[in-house]
Amino acid sequence: MVAMNKEILNQTFDEIGKVIAAHQRFVIISHVRPDGDAIGSQLALGYSLMAMGKEVFLVNEDGVPESLEFLKGVGKVTKPPSEPLEIEVAIAVDTATKPRLGDGALHAASNAGFWINIDHHISNPEYGDLNLIDATKPATGQIIYELINALGYPLPDETRDAIYVAVSTDTGSFQYQSTTAETYAMGADLIRRGLDVGKINADTYDNHPYRRLELMRALLNTLNISANGKLAHWELLDATREKLELQPDDSEGLIDMIRAVRGVQVAVFFEELPDGNIRVSMRSKDQQVNVCNVATQFGGGGHALAAGIRMPGPLAEAKSQVLSALQAAMA
Ligand code: 5GP
Ligand code: MN
Repeated sequence: MVAMNKEILNQTFDEIGKVIAAHQRFVIISHVRPDGDAIGSQLALGYSLMAMGKEVFLVNEDGVPESLEFLKGVGKVTKPPSEPLEIEVAIAVDTATKPRLGDGALHAASNAGFWINIDHHISNPEYGDLNLIDATKPATGQIIYELINALGYPLPDETRDAIYVAVSTDTGSFQYQSTTAETYAMGADLIRRGLDVGKINADTYDNHPYRRLELMRALLNTLNISANGKLAHWELLDATREKLELQPDDSEGLIDMIRAVRGVQVAVFFEELPDGNIRVSMRSKDQQVNVCNVATQFGGGGHALAAGIRMPGPLAEAKSQVLSALQAAMA
């Protein structure tokens, strides 16, 4: 499943094209606590299908985070309706496991007679009737771009902008190792098609609410670095979230601050959720330390260098378990 060869890839594009051609009503879903690649991939494929006259619902368990509200056409993405939608096909994007779509979204999609699963997570167990899993791609948005091109689908402005934001946010602004020449070629193509690159980057990266800075201050007060300087972590208490009136996406990307410290190999962000569970975000800078393997030990998943877990609390217990597993992986 690691590197899909071109032939299999093209076959899968064609099979997906046949399913789309044969149906009229679709729901496109992405994971809980959506990020730029999740919402961006939904919008990108959704607006392309709508431009072909398909009827499309875009559903996300948690709705659209404030930080992505600037995206063109984003009003189309709703939280799950209480009744199942009248649809024929469900398409999951950027979602490593089916339960990560959320109970409400799964209920909304429960009339689907066919599931398509499009993702770039290596840990994806291929839960669709048709699966397009390409772990060589830095973002699901880039797979959607290739699918749209391969099938000759339309690329309206909403799709163009959404693809760019999906890939930009999942590559740390086209910086990570996963970024390839194809990724940059795609960016160039989107700009030729009219993307306003200065504005879209300003909307994505230079428009944070002030409370995000207050969150940074709170996190810095909990910063801990191991004696050898290789393992750094910080934590967010639920009480802090309440005090600062934080939104779930306020912490998006902040882990990169500790990842960026010289000598740090692994950065971890522990977050106490309102339901008592703990969200763990991990980043590795070292190909030898695979944080996805550590995440899967606790029921999480992701990529070799960026992975996450949602696990039971209390915080102190989750911390000690995950930090021990990481120390073992780094030894
Ligand atoms: P982040 O730390 O940005 O939330 O997530 C990093 C990567 O790990 C993403 O690719 C994300 O999909 C994956 N990930 C995060 N949390 C979970 C989780 O609870 N379960 C699984 N399977 N993957 C996760
Ligand atoms: Mn992604």
